[in-house]
Amino acid sequence: MRNSEEYFLEKYSRQIIINKVGIEGQKKIYNSSICIVGCGGLGTSAAQYLSMSGIGKLVLIDHDSIILSNLNRQTLFTEKDIGASKCKVLSEKIKNINESITINYHQKKINESNVDLYLGNCQIILDCTDNFESRLIINKFCHHKKKILVSAALQNFDIQAFIFSSWSNKKNPCYKCIFPSLTTDENLSCDEMGIIATVAGLGGIIQANLALNYILQLNSNFKELILLDSINLEVKKIKIEKNKHCKICS
Ligand SMILES: [Zn+2]
Repeated sequence: MRNSEEYFLEKYSRQIIINKVGIEGQKKIYNSSICIVGCGGLGTSAAQYLSMSGIGKLVLIDHDSIILSNLNRQTLFTEKDIGASKCKVLSEKIKNINESITINYHQKKINESNVDLYLGNCQIILDCTDNFESRLIINKFCHHKKKILVSAALQNFDIQAFIFSSWSNKKNPCYKCIFPSLTTDENLSCDEMGIIATVAGLGGIIQANLALNYILQLNSNFKELILLDSINLEVKKIKIEKNKHCKICS
């Protein structure tokens, strides 16, 4: 029953009835593969919504285990999960949401030498990490291997998000174009920053939403930084030009 056409049509009927989705769009969602790097506040929320939307394949990567202070924002984790691997627990919870999904997980930290092995089989990469070193490695990989990169960052009540396709058009920027002075030696991490519960969830949902828009060939703007102020519920979009001196994409 679960693999039948009838089951598929009923489960996703509320999406399929939308003109901009339809059966064709739902099949595109099912045929998509997405890698989520970082199974924290952004990653758990994005994984939950992408699996509910009917994504066919997810790869989850995180080297960390669940700790008590994660539970204010990392949806799907509970007190019973403390001490367990984030990506393993998340993959089990995702299977309960969508049994038809193909899901792989790797309890690893991404570095220059393993990035291709773990991210190479997916067409869209969600950067849900909390440190600049990983973000720069993922950005470089996505540019050279022609992957769509959906990036987000959180701080207190604010969310930044961007969908990158720096390889598909010479005017599209990459992550490094926005932050040219960052290097992989930079030991800057955001994991000690304050984050209110709902902002992490919203950030992950925005990333999932940008990925679905891309899959459905709806509005994908590869030149705008999205800034959401969750206190005043204001969204600002800032146009970003490609940096002509960028060491990655120029
Ligand atoms: Zn660049």
